Amino acid sequence: MTTVHNAQRGPREARERPGCRSPAGSRPRRVLSLPASAGQNGCMVRRIESYAVERWVRPVGDGRVLRDAVTGEPVAELGQPGADPEAMLRHAREVGGPSLRELGFHERAAILKSLALHLNDRRDELYDLSLQSGATRRDAVFDVDGGIGVLFSYSSRGRRELPAGNVVLDGPTEPLGKGGTFVGRHVYVPRRGVAVQINAFNFPVWGLLEKLAPAFLAGLPTIVKPATPTAWIAEAAVRQLLDAGLPPGALQLWVGSPDGLLEALDGQDQVAFTGSAATARHLRSHPALVARGVRVTTETDSLNASILGPDAVPGTPELDLFVKQVVVEMTVKAGQKCTAIRRAFVPRPRMRDVTDAIAERLGRVVVGNPRDPDVTMGALVSVEHRDDVRRGVAALAAAAAPVIGDPGRVETRGADPERGAFVAPLLLRADEPERPEPHRIEAFGPVATLMPYDSVDHVVRLAALGEGSLVASIVSHDPGFVRDIVLGLAPYHGRLLVLDRADAAEQTGHGSPLPTLVHGGPGRAGGSEELGGIRSVLHHMQRTAVQGSPDALVAATGAWTGGAATADDGVHPFRKTFLELGVGDRIVGGPRTISDADIAHFAAFTGDRFYAHTDDEAAAANPFFGRRVAHGYLVLAFAAGLFVDPAPGPVLANYGLDNLRFLAPTYPGDAITVALTAKELTPRPNQDYGEVRWDAVVTNQDGVVVATYDVLTLVARERA
Ligand code: NAP
Repeated sequence: MTTVHNAQRGPREARERPGCRSPAGSRPRRVLSLPASAGQNGCMVRRIESYAVERWVRPVGDGRVLRDAVTGEPVAELGQPGADPEAMLRHAREVGGPSLRELGFHERAAILKSLALHLNDRRDELYDLSLQSGATRRDAVFDVDGGIGVLFSYSSRGRRELPAGNVVLDGPTEPLGKGGTFVGRHVYVPRRGVAVQINAFNFPVWGLLEKLAPAFLAGLPTIVKPATPTAWIAEAAVRQLLDAGLPPGALQLWVGSPDGLLEALDGQDQVAFTGSAATARHLRSHPALVARGVRVTTETDSLNASILGPDAVPGTPELDLFVKQVVVEMTVKAGQKCTAIRRAFVPRPRMRDVTDAIAERLGRVVVGNPRDPDVTMGALVSVEHRDDVRRGVAALAAAAAPVIGDPGRVETRGADPERGAFVAPLLLRADEPERPEPHRIEAFGPVATLMPYDSVDHVVRLAALGEGSLVASIVSHDPGFVRDIVLGLAPYHGRLLVLDRADAAEQTGHGSPLPTLVHGGPGRAGGSEELGGIRSVLHHMQRTAVQGSPDALVAATGAWTGGAATADDGVHPFRKTFLELGVGDRIVGGPRTISDADIAHFAAFTGDRFYAHTDDEAAAANPFFGRRVAHGYLVLAFAAGLFVDPAPGPVLANYGLDNLRFLAPTYPGDAITVALTAKELTPRPNQDYGEVRWDAVVTNQDGVVVATYDVLTLVARERA
């Protein structure tokens, strides 16, 4: 049995040396369990380590110093990875994969919950470290709590929506031959490789956890490669995860260029990348990945749009919602969000109103040291990145002029604007919205461009010039406009938010990917999908079509299917406990004749007097029946009466029906028979009962199938 163990612990803390400056406005504080070496100015600078083959490995060679985005003080140093990539991959494949697959979905889901709880108790440590990347507390909550939320969500979905074990059935059995002896079914199974996850700098915690959770649940070990500018935060999060306890080999950390890792991947491995479109292009054409058919998914940059509807005139809630949302998206994480609004489309007559309203709100933004509680927007991640943003704005200037903010000037609170990576929020305006620049250039900071549009077709065409985006929002209370825009934009977007007065209080925001909904977008946005509930787990598995006889499929999948052998040992299956039941256990009940009196009684008793059951003349005119028929629900109720064993016993409850179809009418005088077969047995984690899915087939006296459905019951594991 796999043991979930705690990672070997490194030195617990590094303290700043006397004489070193603390970040402005902060008191010296304990930092996470990180080793330190003397930096250029004699201060203790943490050397970011990799975690390889169950131990922390110091980097080698000269380091690159990472600086506090606000103060410019060194916070960490990055060297060449001291770990051996081939040993890490071997460890993941030979130890991590088997130790994960020894568990099932439910056990792995339970571990995700324990990770979430562990991180939840230590959030403050990650918030503190995030300050050094220029993030405000609100930004850090977005990153850290958002990531923990993903763990909770996948834990819960994994236990509720995935079966026991490691095989997921995909769709029904497909008949492949006329005689019923040859059928096919799709199954998902864990791949035998490793997930290499290359993350962007802007969400060092969320980015790590939103990729780790579905891969882990799928049974695939992870090697995570964080982005350099915020690698110390990701390293701290990995230390917390390892402290919480993970199966051996399930998670390793590679800090540095991933080239050595990529060279050694093979067709069971996959690379999940988040970052710029330029790096994604490099990865998609990486010779080793192409040559060995390594799965590559990419989540890249995106020129997301928000569209104000023509109905949103001054005084409506929608105009205020639009303005507020644009400002929030410009300023949260100082605009360093892949989902931020870059292009704001406004009906031409509304341009002045919207510009004034945004100016008024942006005027209230306080840029500066995020350690100051009055500051509402922090710094960009580094001065190098600030210079990139300024270059982006300069390139946008060919089509768009600043209307609010100055790219070269910023007033800061509690921080030196020269030492920190600050820029002021910058609203641009492009009066010729067809110009290419606003639709191509991503200035990855607090920058958005306002553009006028003239009609639905016009704005759909303009939004599509982004060539595929992660998200767009439509702010309108006009159903006709909403319908036209949603259908026009959907092919170009992974997610669409419709915002109006009805959902304003509850909506989760333009820029927030949710674990239950897909995140990703076509074209420029990378062409992949992440999250989206269990979909994302399945992306990490292999879907295989298995063909054979029904019995061969039962043997391979553990699920009973029509045409396969059944068992009747004389004991009613309802008298068997969950542990005693086997797939294929069957009870056949009937026949029972359905009389006119039964139908009349059912109609009177339930109040369902639909003409097809009660009126001969009207029923005769019905194109499907030709004469009076029994209620479908009567057939179901009578079938239950035929298969149920009434005495108290292991069957605890019926909790629903799936896939119900009435396939042929049942006429007065017909005699029905039901065959009920145990089809899938799913233990419920930590419960003393399991779920049993029964296949139910109701036939008439001529052997014609009149109804098929699945009955779902909860059955006690053992006899009381
Ligand atoms: P980036 O420069 O493309 O880097 C992303 C990751 O790729 C980093 O870990 C980076 O490592 C690594 N990398 C760089 N060159 C590589 C190479 N030749 N081979 C393999 N890996 C390589 O992007 P970023 O600056 O970190 O992030 C900002 C961008 O990410 C923005 O454009 C933003 O829109 C996008 N983004 C997209 C999403 C999404 O979900 N679609 C989410 C967040 C961000 P180093 O840091 O060590 O160079």
